[in-house]
Amino acid sequence: MKISIIGAGYVGLVQSVCLADFGHEITCIEKDSRKLKQLSFSTVPFYEPKLDEILKKNIKSGRLKFTNQYKDNISSADIIFICVGTPPKKNGESDLSYLKQASKEIAENLNGYTVIASKSTVPVGTSKIIENTIKKIKPKISFDVVSNPEFLREGSAVDDFMRPDKIIIGCRSSKAVTILKKVYKPLNRPYVITNNETAEIIKYANNSFLATKIAFINEVADLCERIHGDVEVVAKALGLDGRIGPKFLHPGPGYGGSCFPKDVKSFIYQGNKNLVDLKIVKAVDLANENRIKSLFERTKKIIKNKFNNTQIGILGITFKPNTDDIRQSPALKLVQDLIRTKAKVKIYDPQGMENAKKELPKSTEFCDDEYSVAKDSDILLFLTEWNQFKSLNLSKIKQLLKKPIIFDLRNIYNRKEMKKYGFKYYSIGNN
Ligand code: NAD
Repeated sequence: MKISIIGAGYVGLVQSVCLADFGHEITCIEKDSRKLKQLSFSTVPFYEPKLDEILKKNIKSGRLKFTNQYKDNISSADIIFICVGTPPKKNGESDLSYLKQASKEIAENLNGYTVIASKSTVPVGTSKIIENTIKKIKPKISFDVVSNPEFLREGSAVDDFMRPDKIIIGCRSSKAVTILKKVYKPLNRPYVITNNETAEIIKYANNSFLATKIAFINEVADLCERIHGDVEVVAKALGLDGRIGPKFLHPGPGYGGSCFPKDVKSFIYQGNKNLVDLKIVKAVDLANENRIKSLFERTKKIIKNKFNNTQIGILGITFKPNTDDIRQSPALKLVQDLIRTKAKVKIYDPQGMENAKKELPKSTEFCDDEYSVAKDSDILLFLTEWNQFKSLNLSKIKQLLKKPIIFDLRNIYNRKEMKKYGFKYYSIGNN
């Protein structure tokens, strides 16, 4: 099939590369000239495991092309996927300006029946906005708008795309459903076929529910700390209950990234707009906002209120491992708070440092590895659970630290073991 994909971000590029790998003929339209230049050299513009290899293979095969031109690439496509960003406005509402611009450009170049599917996360009613935008420009051309939300996770995007739990198709046209099913046939995964509005809501309900699990276990962790309980054991027991499941029950610094924070806020906004008070989702948002404040206070207590001239070593700055994405990263927020106190901060992250340099003051020290961070630090903070942080030479770390204090916000290490090494070890939900 001939497929055009608008946007070469995390969603659009993964969709382009993986669909090309299935044998479809893909044109990915990207407006950012910097990204386009990197793609023209067969380089992935961000860090995402496995993507580079499949990108190169499919560019070479001639099935995958990149351009900034809508002309010719819209009229010839059987289906167009919109994968542009939908960032949050200050009031929580989703900013649809990129999507509206893309819809206009699609309309201007449309000249026969086409399916237009939105993979961007968009509020209820957005399919109608796309439809009206196109109808206004091309009233005589027939087309169908489909809501087809994406559930991939950065860091495992290729595997998630290739093996999704479900494929949501939201539309009112059986012709469009048949075309979508043809696109995704090689996946052989379960479909949920519904109307546009329900499909749009599914994505927000999905992300808000996962965010709720994270905020919930963090509250349980707070209580465990007070009563000498162990949140890891509580989480394990909860996870063994088939009705709950083990995923997204890891206590830590709260959820971040480019999706959960904005999707939770947008869901609240959509509830308010429709006079439905989403009290649980509001509580989750508030709990997550307060999470960094309370962990900052805890760090302050551990170092006995002494920030001046205290050297703080940071391991991990991305919002999760296996990505270079620092958007809404809890690690970044905590580091920014620490820097405001005039503490000295040095950081190592396997992939996120180039992005972090753009957000942090020039005086921030970035190191080549974990051990350079530990050297002469008064405290070491684990903020992202990268695999390579899990088997450090702890004797060496202890030797390098000025004071053997560790605050492990991801519960990477075992408390008893760390005490044996002679660390003053603090973690989440089991002190
Ligand atoms: P992104 O910001 O990484 O990428 C969007 C891309 O679209 C950018 O490269 C931008 O230059 C391009 N673009 C914007 N307007 C354009 C236009 N008119 N024509 C061509 N290109 C244009 O965003 P993302 O992380 O890929 O997310 C895209 C959407 O998917 C969002 O709605 C997001 O909420 C949703 N989503 C993201 C993820 C994720 O893990 N990142 C997962 C599921 C869903």
